[in-house]
Amino acid sequence: MCDIIWCKKDMGDGKVCDTVNYLDPYCFWNWEGKVACAHCGTVYYIHMIQGHMYAGPDEKPGEKPDILPLYADQPNNGYFNYLPGIEGRTRPYTCLPRHIYLGKADMVKFSIRGRPVRGWRPQPPSAGVAGSQGYFWDIEKLTPEVWEEYQEKIRKGEVKDW
Ligand SMILES: [Zn+2]
Repeated sequence: MCDIIWCKKDMGDGKVCDTVNYLDPYCFWNWEGKVACAHCGTVYYIHMIQGHMYAGPDEKPGEKPDILPLYADQPNNGYFNYLPGIEGRTRPYTCLPRHIYLGKADMVKFSIRGRPVRGWRPQPPSAGVAGSQGYFWDIEKLTPEVWEEYQEKIRKGEVKDW
């Protein structure tokens, strides 16, 4: 968990909600918005940066939540709990980062000095023993388009030693 929201909302009769809402890193690691308490529905604004509670939780009466916690329980009440996926209380358990973190890695073909680097994909089918190219990486043969780009960089003076 990144953090929790321990809801202390006054429920009347001297009782408080006393529910711990767990903020899972899959969703909340970098997140700003409103979360509802799974038990009483109180809406809290939070702003998390790198798993740290930068702002909040601040109560937002009358506002709608953007999202629900994944899990909540009541440690002072025999650990009564709300498991994931309870309609209107908790989110389903998909255990996936939000869509913005599910992209593809950047393909870097050239170093900061403009030299070709090998650590990019997709590598073309190679040759040799077990697909190895030995110690010589024949960039011109393996990836003519990167070779052409490299020649262009050399012509423009973008390739440096330092
Ligand atoms: Zn509550």
